[in-house]
Amino acid sequence: MRSKADFEHLLWQVLHEGIEAYKDADGWYLLISTRCSHLQKNGHCEIYDSRPAICREYNNDWCEYDAPAEEGFMLHFHSYEQLLTYCKKRFKTWGQ
Ligand code: SF4
Repeated sequence: MRSKADFEHLLWQVLHEGIEAYKDADGWYLLISTRCSHLQKNGHCEIYDSRPAICREYNNDWCEYDAPAEEGFMLHFHSYEQLLTYCKKRFKTWGQ
């Protein structure tokens, strides 16, 4: 993700409650701090057999309970304002 349009889209995403953006060695990602609507009270997945591919591909070898994910973040934006400031520095023509 590098274009101005990519960052305009990311800005819209971080406007939403519980959504932050970060970059690590693998690229740009969203940090979604909300509970999945399919997570049951017993910790099981309500749609386990048809869960999305990203859930199927998740590797339990590494867990955020063992080490905070933020340790690997190169950039981390908690708010629209923080990301907007970054965009204005990254793109000299931002807002034009
Ligand atoms: S496996 Fe995926 S769909 Fe199921 S509860 Fe977890 S995040 Fe939600």
